[in-house]
Amino acid sequence: MAISKDVFQKRIARARELMRDEGLDMLFIGPSSDFTYFTGHPTRTSERLTALLIPHEGEPTVVVPRLEAPLVAELENDFAFEVWEETENPIDRVAERIRVTGGEAIAINDQIWGGFLVQLQHKLPNRSYHRGVSVLKQLRSVKDPFELDLLKEASRRTDDAWADFSNRVKVIGRTEAEVAEDLKGALADHGMPDVAFCIVASGPNGSSPHHHTAERRIEAGDPIVMDFGGIHEGYFSDVTRTPVAGHVPDDDFTTAYEIVLEAQQAAFEAIAPGVACQDVDRAARKVITDRGYGDYFIHRVGHGIGMTGHEDPYLVEGNTEPLQAGMVVSDEPGIYIPGKWGIRIEDSVGVTETGGERFNHVSRDITILG
Ligand code: ZN
Ligand code: ZN
Ligand code: ZN
Repeated sequence: MAISKDVFQKRIARARELMRDEGLDMLFIGPSSDFTYFTGHPTRTSERLTALLIPHEGEPTVVVPRLEAPLVAELENDFAFEVWEETENPIDRVAERIRVTGGEAIAINDQIWGGFLVQLQHKLPNRSYHRGVSVLKQLRSVKDPFELDLLKEASRRTDDAWADFSNRVKVIGRTEAEVAEDLKGALADHGMPDVAFCIVASGPNGSSPHHHTAERRIEAGDPIVMDFGGIHEGYFSDVTRTPVAGHVPDDDFTTAYEIVLEAQQAAFEAIAPGVACQDVDRAARKVITDRGYGDYFIHRVGHGIGMTGHEDPYLVEGNTEPLQAGMVVSDEPGIYIPGKWGIRIEDSVGVTETGGERFNHVSRDITILG
């Protein structure tokens, strides 16, 4: 999808307003989704620095190595260019730009490599350095209408992939890795060959929420935590279901599953503009804690989703920031019993003017896979 140029100009203008509010003179953005957010161009992280400098006034500058300049050539109409040669240190160019624009308070995006930042601090020691996230999260966490459409479409495709997968794929006797390949194939069949991640954690492996999918063979009676997402035109989906192979292992599992389901619904119902992020976590945690499983819900209830899989806002105790209409978050409580199994149920949820809107619509009930 071609995004019109004025979208990027508006984003830069808004970044400058926020910089002014926070007393920041320069935003230094390394290769990351932040770079793409302001330019429309993807970047690759490498030892050769590509960066965007947004001064509080004056022209924004793209810093790019000579050999990659053709990749961003069309930006030359809208940005000043610093093309650095192979024998140069790009940080010299960055420092020079900052000197020229008179930047004192320099904000850096979180994804820039530490090595570049440390060099800049040595070259310009008499500046103050800040995290740019304060500006960036205000911009990125509230999605434009076209971003919401892309995120919904990413979720819709992921739902369709799950429906195909769960109707068709056999899991008993196969390895987690084999099953993950089938799920990735289903995502590719629905136009998402760039699989963002695909966790298949069977039986006891399910008690490690970010288990590395591997060679364990799935047995009848195994719950399987399957957390997966794809990328649609630069926007992520993120969904988790916990089906079982053949049959449920025992009544404890069924009870815990219902508690997670209830907690997921409680968090969903808590989502509304103006609600503190931590209150969404609390809503889910209360359900799980009241039923005696509080010690086994070992992560926050959710995170923002957009051009990355995990981003602001984080739905976690201690985050008092209010949700705003246009944010998109995950709702993903879980219960993890070490040595036995794990359960997680996750949907992506948009914050509307009045509450929450689920982007995923496939059944959340226990699904039996063959
Ligand atoms: Zn996760
Ligand atoms: Zn997930
Ligand atoms: Zn998630």
